[in-house]
Amino acid sequence: MQQDALWQAVLGEIELSLSRGNFVTWFKSTCLLKYSDETVVIGVTNIFIKQQLERKYGDLITATLAKNGVSAKHIEYKMVQSSKQKTDTTPTISDTAQSTKDTPASSPTTPAANQRPPGNDLSHSYRQGLNERYTLDSFVVGDSNELAFAACQAITQQPGTKYNPLFLYGGVGIGKTHLIQAVGNILQARNPGAKVLYISTEQFVQEFVDALRFRKTAAFARYYRTAEVLIVDDVQFIAGKEKMQEEFFHTFNALHQANKQIIISADKPPKDIPTLEDRLRSRFSGGMSIDMQIPDFETRCAIVQTKAHTHDIQLDHEVVEYLATNIQTNIRELEGALNQLLAYCEMRGLEPTLSIASSLLNVSKTRPKHLSARQIIERTARHFQIPYDDIVGPKRDKDIVVPRQVAMYILRNELKLSFPKIARELGRKDHTTAIHSVDKIDKEARSDATLRMAISDIREHLYA
Ligand code: ADP
Ligand code: MG
Repeated sequence: MQQDALWQAVLGEIELSLSRGNFVTWFKSTCLLKYSDETVVIGVTNIFIKQQLERKYGDLITATLAKNGVSAKHIEYKMVQSSKQKTDTTPTISDTAQSTKDTPASSPTTPAANQRPPGNDLSHSYRQGLNERYTLDSFVVGDSNELAFAACQAITQQPGTKYNPLFLYGGVGIGKTHLIQAVGNILQARNPGAKVLYISTEQFVQEFVDALRFRKTAAFARYYRTAEVLIVDDVQFIAGKEKMQEEFFHTFNALHQANKQIIISADKPPKDIPTLEDRLRSRFSGGMSIDMQIPDFETRCAIVQTKAHTHDIQLDHEVVEYLATNIQTNIRELEGALNQLLAYCEMRGLEPTLSIASSLLNVSKTRPKHLSARQIIERTARHFQIPYDDIVGPKRDKDIVVPRQVAMYILRNELKLSFPKIARELGRKDHTTAIHSVDKIDKEARSDATLRMAISDIREHLYA
């Protein structure tokens, strides 16, 4: 029982630091079998998850266990039968096996399923994996990405003809997913009944593993081979998975021969993906391969301006340049810094200036070490004008609960406290309350400007 709770706490934290797709694929079905100071034994449902956890997530698991009070020297993985965990939140190909059509709710692609907008069910039948946030209109074109953009545009006009497959490659956070999703959205909008599939390779591989296990490979094959458009993101993760490569090879051929559009992204060109079978390598290279680079300074400036415009804000060019100069490698981070700046200024009714931008960027780099949990909680209580005793007390009124959740969120982000510790600081017994609260505020802050302003105001006072 306690073991379960511990593992749920660990998973709760891990979930916050990974994408939904990665979490579902690699962690959702794991369990804790045993732990002591010497060894932690984690149950996994297939060898593939074991390898991935060992290779990629060992440090994360160790660190998160340590935060929850378990500092084991070794981690072992043991194969277990998948059971209850598999069924509800991780749809697999077995769910879709009955039918390859009209099964929107049981799509094998989970990551964006919960982002599906409400509306006419039929028109969303094949919205699998696509997120409508990504459009070609909102994509800023510069030297580094104009070729990729042009190819994507051409594909939206005549899918399955010229650039097939389209293979986009380049580093992290430079707009690959944005572009290929945008193409999917356009093709889907033009032909709502068509099966436009977007899938991350990790998810793809996981589904295939499940299909093998449940002897549903025929359904798996049918599902993908009947796509109108197949978009496969981050294909480098297929490296070394021989059976999957073979399956993908046949899917690829079937679609390609039928002139269905295939779009692939990866972090490097096909020739540099180790242990990629030659026949796939040659298939991938058989269409159009385009190298995407991190946008140059001018393009980064344009991206900042464009994103500011979407918030109805006209930024001074020196502010734009400051951001574009200081964040050079990743557009995702650039967006984050801009959002932080806008929230800060919105709250105070200030114009974003160079000095605010530079103080904000510096604040996040050099946070004072002496900040205590108590100070954070006090500051949060004061911001919401409630007594300190209430925020750490038993009351459950909404105007107390929300500030308490905000305090938990800030404790987590500023002091990196463990969930049990956060719960204790706020007078709660159960650390899952802390997990839930931090997650909730994190999600809500994305769409709620007032909440963002509250958080940055509290932060600002803490660091003043
Ligand atoms: P990748 O898949 O290459 O890792 P993403 O497509 O996820 O990167 O891009 C990261 C973030 O940066 C996304 O929010 C995306 O909208 C934004 N972004 C990247 N390039 C551009 C661009 N040229 N114009 C507008 N937004 C961009
Ligand atoms: Mg991506």
